[in-house]
Amino acid sequence: MSVKSIFLKPGKEKSIERFHPWIFSGALMKGQDDLSNGDLVCVKNASGKFLGIGHYQDLGSISVRIISFIDEPIDQGFWNRKFENAYQVRENLNLVHVNNNVYRLIHGEGDGLPGLIVDIYNDSAVLQCHSVGMLQNLDYIKNAILHVYGKGIKAIYNKSSDTISREIEVEDGYIHHAKDPEKIVFEYGHKFSVDWETGQKTGYFIDQRENRRILAKYASGKKILNTFCYSGGFSIFALEAGAKLVHSLDSSKKAIDLVNQNMVLNSRMHSDKHKSIVADAMDFMKNLEEEYDIIILDPPAFAKHKKSRHKAIQGYKRLNYNAIKQIKPGGIIFTFSCSQVVDKQMFTKTVIAAGIEAKRSVRILEQLHQPGDHPVNAYHPEGEYLKGLIIQVD
Ligand code: SAH
Repeated sequence: MSVKSIFLKPGKEKSIERFHPWIFSGALMKGQDDLSNGDLVCVKNASGKFLGIGHYQDLGSISVRIISFIDEPIDQGFWNRKFENAYQVRENLNLVHVNNNVYRLIHGEGDGLPGLIVDIYNDSAVLQCHSVGMLQNLDYIKNAILHVYGKGIKAIYNKSSDTISREIEVEDGYIHHAKDPEKIVFEYGHKFSVDWETGQKTGYFIDQRENRRILAKYASGKKILNTFCYSGGFSIFALEAGAKLVHSLDSSKKAIDLVNQNMVLNSRMHSDKHKSIVADAMDFMKNLEEEYDIIILDPPAFAKHKKSRHKAIQGYKRLNYNAIKQIKPGGIIFTFSCSQVVDKQMFTKTVIAAGIEAKRSVRILEQLHQPGDHPVNAYHPEGEYLKGLIIQVD
């Protein structure tokens, strides 16, 4: 593949020299018009010094996503090395075994491949491209997955229609297909049915795996409310750990159908201990009818941009206020935010403000975050998005 050069304005190389993988449109020298979306480009400073290689597009504020900081061929060998390295990290995290076959293999910038997400579900891989460059390299990506897994991966599904710019048309579908891929996965021994074709994101919220395991530590004998439950990950872990009662709540009927399906799969559970509720969590939390020992609050990102941050914080505050105010003395709240623009300090302050308003005593027992298969590139702090607190309310 031919590599075109792209030049930065004088003085605009500081961030790429610190290995930040994004180049914004304002940093590019004017008049470089011979580029197309998805082109592989060699980024150079104003005097022509090599800085990195990346994917170009002019569809948003990020113009180049850097995939290598060294001058090397971006061939199949390059992609294979990236995927081998990513797989090794997941093996080191002890995420690849019969009891656990669902994990994120490629987490964009965190794995040196900005614009690409690859999730593994048993013997299927589901990928989402956030850049045209990644979309144009599906063959390399597919080959790299097969290089790492061999026959271990039977199906590869491209689910990029939601994640790519609206200007680009792409249809979701299999790019490598065995008939009827296995849709049951194991997360630390618990069974989940994952439908990547119709489900939210790539089909499952893999990023809460370790936090579900932490919940299991607290769950025995407890009455638990799991709000924003999606397919019921927290609920299954809690019931399997001996919870007395679990209520799973989501506004999506489809999500609740998944919860019910997953309850049946983990058949050791007694159905009389579990109830599914289709409702708006913000309304439901205003007036709780049951006294819960543990409440889980895991809403979708309330803020997708800085502009909506203020409103998002008000949303988090209201939600946490209602939980803190009503939970029984000694009760525990697992509270999360996955809004990238609301950072850890801001989120903690919001929860504290909610506690003050509710006039309850609040202790932070544990601080939670995204797991190791969603790594944060140290030079790209924007990659840190999931944060949570376990608080005890007296
Ligand atoms: N905790 C889940 C992931 C949560 S994702 C897990 O471990 O898998 C956020 C969920 O919130 C989605 O399932 C979405 O359907 C649901 N949701 C969005 N707005 C909601 C609302 N107002 N009330 C209840 N659920 C809502």
